[in-house]
Amino acid sequence: MLRLPCPHCGLRDHAEFAYGGDANVAKPALDAPQQAWIEAVYMRANPRGAHAELWHHVHGCRAWIVVERDTATHVVRGARLPERKP
Ligand SMILES: [Zn+2]
Repeated sequence: MLRLPCPHCGLRDHAEFAYGGDANVAKPALDAPQQAWIEAVYMRANPRGAHAELWHHVHGCRAWIVVERDTATHVVRGARLPERKP
């Protein structure tokens, strides 16, 4: 059973969350070429091992969180709120 430590709600079952993808992908500017958006949205590395992921606590506080999870073992090493960028 996968449980995620929401910074607001504590340890919760993953069924309360929606997966949001790789937390390290930088989104292009709104006026960037279409190919830049295709690569940002659809092209993924699918890493094995330590990975930073975005999760949305849909059935909880509704916050987006960054979860550090090992994709091979599902061991969760921690979670934090995403950094705000200006
Ligand atoms: Zn929460």
